[in-house]
Amino acid sequence: MIDFKELLKEHGIAPSIQRIKILEFLEKNRIHPTADMVYQALVQEIPTLSKTTVYNTLKAFTEKGVLVALSLFENEVRYEYNTEPHIHFKCIKCGKIYDISKAFECLNNKEIEGHKVLEHHVNLKGICKNCRD
Ligand SMILES: [Zn+2]
Ligand SMILES: [Zn+2]
Repeated sequence: MIDFKELLKEHGIAPSIQRIKILEFLEKNRIHPTADMVYQALVQEIPTLSKTTVYNTLKAFTEKGVLVALSLFENEVRYEYNTEPHIHFKCIKCGKIYDISKAFECLNNKEIEGHKVLEHHVNLKGICKNCRD
């Protein structure tokens, strides 16, 4: 069980209830949501939540390294909880984005053909296991 309050403090962010709820949502729902999806999911539970708060919170979390902002296949920004490096697979049928951690070895901090890799982003597209039939 993650102490989100403590985690936010460690990253220099004041842990308000709304911020904790947003972070909790991202940690529990590994669906790479957009800011809008986060807002829609939480506004029922937190009626005082505004879209601006969600946008600003996600931005602050990203700047402090709590979340990672992804520009995957569309021009929209999606967010995810900062985990081990992994690659993404997007299903062209259902639009779901899966985390793939086993297919490729981590290239971070490796040297490839003389180039030093700091981070890597590999995006795969296809038909997911649920949509194959
Ligand atoms: Zn699918
Ligand atoms: Zn991911």
